[in-house]
Amino acid sequence: MENVIIIGTGCAGWTAAIYTARANLNPLVISGSLPGGQLSTTTEVENFPGFPEGVMGPELMGKMQQQAEKFGTRVEYSQINSLIKNTDGTFTLKSDSQEYQAKTVIIATGASPRHLGLPNEKELIGKGLTSCATCDGAFYRDVPVAVIGGGDSAAEEATFLTRFASKVYLVHRRDELRASKIMADRVLANPKVEPVWDSTVTEYLTNEKGEMRAAKIKNLKTGEESELELECVFVAIGHVPNTQFLEGTGIDLDENGYIIQQGSGAGTNIEGLFAAGDVADHVYRQAITAAGNGCQAALEAERYLADHE
Ligand code: NAP
Repeated sequence: MENVIIIGTGCAGWTAAIYTARANLNPLVISGSLPGGQLSTTTEVENFPGFPEGVMGPELMGKMQQQAEKFGTRVEYSQINSLIKNTDGTFTLKSDSQEYQAKTVIIATGASPRHLGLPNEKELIGKGLTSCATCDGAFYRDVPVAVIGGGDSAAEEATFLTRFASKVYLVHRRDELRASKIMADRVLANPKVEPVWDSTVTEYLTNEKGEMRAAKIKNLKTGEESELELECVFVAIGHVPNTQFLEGTGIDLDENGYIIQQGSGAGTNIEGLFAAGDVADHVYRQAITAAGNGCQAALEAERYLADHE
């Protein structure tokens, strides 16, 4: 019987591991399908405190893992497919090949940015295709970029990108934004933003180095096709929280599938089950907020175990 199982190895998961390991709880971390989480797919991280020169995303995640393992965290590279709470208050988790028992569980499985499903997306991530303007915007100074989407994220990202880019195309599949009025007005009033209405990207075009050089656009009303020269596409068509495996647990999710936190930070509606990071946060979605929330989950799990000893 484990004291605590942490599912997920992004910033929230590793921070929860560091704290629970230092509290002598001997945590077991299950990596999930993308070890290191979203930061493992980014390049330089310039906004994580403590790294004035910036740090590469995979390096930062490697250091977090090292720090967690230094205090005795154990890691298994598998994926949890189901989780149930037993009548005695403990939890049973199942992967493809193994079953685990734990007194507490911290879910830190993150969220995956939604993509369009075009063929070369995977290869382009980090080479001109991203879902995080805060992370990558500053790399695209004085060059044209595009944002895809029409919600608050797209409006916010496009507005933010005007600080760096020479021009920001805002490609939306309809002719009005879904974003709140204030954010929509702000983005559309910005002279650097050029909306491309009723349109979708049908192909990402690359240069000889495999980097983004243009996007092929189709107007959904007229069928007309065109090309936009650009160096980066920021996809802001929503995120999908990684909570599919929680079906049947009875955990409270909001209408978009995010875990609803309760109590003082990282609790859920199920006692002994905690959630941290992007799996429960559709607002901030930052490495540092996920790490802070992972710390909260660890402290709450520790208190829960102390109260139930
Ligand atoms: P969202 O509100 O779900 O908007 C997603 C956008 O992407 C929509 O405009 C949608 O088009 C478009 N879209 C979805 N699938 C698409 C596809 N396959 N192809 C092309 N376009 C597609 O997501 P979000 O903007 O990430 O916001 C999520 C939540 O966070 C919202 O509640 C939002 O208010 C909140 N948020 C708040 C702030 C803030 O207040 N500062 C900032 C960011 C996010 P349609 O409009 O045609 O459906």
